[in-house]
Amino acid sequence: MVSCPHCHAKSIGVFQKLFATPLFVHRCANCGENWATSRWAGFLGVLAAVSFSTLISIIHPAPLLFFLSLGAFFVVLTLALILIPAVQR
Ligand SMILES: [Zn+2]
Repeated sequence: MVSCPHCHAKSIGVFQKLFATPLFVHRCANCGENWATSRWAGFLGVLAAVSFSTLISIIHPAPLLFFLSLGAFFVVLTLALILIPAVQR
């Protein structure tokens, strides 16, 4: 469970946090206040994934390697999104 940015109760499920994006606001089951993932976290995550995969394709231009690097990066990004704290909305 992840802490709510308002009441600090462990009211946010890991899967709820995983699928929470900066675009959609969620409501805390404990205090009823809104929370979401930071906009900057989402923006930086996508930017980092695209730039990392572009860099790999420039260094070693093979389509399979490009998709493997993109896949590996999204796994890391998913783990990072769970760890990035929720923010108040
Ligand atoms: Zn709360």
